[in-house]
Amino acid sequence: MIKNFGKKIGLFIDLDGTVYHGARMIPYADQWIRNVRSEGIPFLFVTNNSSRTPVAVAQHLIGMGIEALPDEVYTSAQAAAQYVNEQQLGKDIFCIGEIGLRVALQEKGLSLSDCMDDSVDVVVQGIDREFNYLKLEKAVTALLKGASFIQTNPDLLLPSDHGLIPGAGTLGASIQAGSRVKPVVIGKPSPIIMEYALAKLGCLPEQAIVIGDNMFTDIGAGRAAGCHTVLVLTGVTTSANYDEQVQLAGFEPDHVCKDIEELSAYISLKNRL
Ligand SMILES: [Mg+2]
Repeated sequence: MIKNFGKKIGLFIDLDGTVYHGARMIPYADQWIRNVRSEGIPFLFVTNNSSRTPVAVAQHLIGMGIEALPDEVYTSAQAAAQYVNEQQLGKDIFCIGEIGLRVALQEKGLSLSDCMDDSVDVVVQGIDREFNYLKLEKAVTALLKGASFIQTNPDLLLPSDHGLIPGAGTLGASIQAGSRVKPVVIGKPSPIIMEYALAKLGCLPEQAIVIGDNMFTDIGAGRAAGCHTVLVLTGVTTSANYDEQVQLAGFEPDHVCKDIEELSAYISLKNRL
């Protein structure tokens, strides 16, 4: 049950493509977050990226001039760990993932197995830039023996300094192909991460504004959770490909902002209404 915070609105803000591109801050993002704080609007950064801990995400933001606390960050890794714990899927986890996911699972008291015996209850899979055949074999074997399959996020491709690179969804596709088990997807566009994020902030869906650059993940998740959605044309979606992205998604965001200055004005207005 969500304990309401009594405010008018709460913000759920995507990171990559919305406030930064990799190591580069998107212009005005620092000022906007200062505005949000000074207006007293509750917010959470919600990211599908499972590779970093909330502490590391906050440090990354601070490094580019955006004030942030670890508790203001909610990752698909935290949501995946919360889901495994709440659904009581078991304590022995085979984790394919990086430090952000491993720490999140351990913080929920789950134990990370090397999969050398039969005791694996759950395969939890996120992005893993050291993914290899042995990990694939262990995951497929555990799933064929009946383990549950949880995926942090379905992103097939990610933007990088050298173009698009494979994401967690692409790694998961090989596990799915071998095991014929479909994962429970936790990150955006799944409503699971949104429901946990809403509860963490104590915000009702009708008060929530989900902000992001990706029609499929950010806007999709906001819609699935019954929240107001705002697309910013600063990342995956741009003014050049907006029509195409909307057509591919099959739905529109509630509002579109071309940049963070426009977003800042819109959010201030929503807060005053
Ligand atoms: Mg994004």
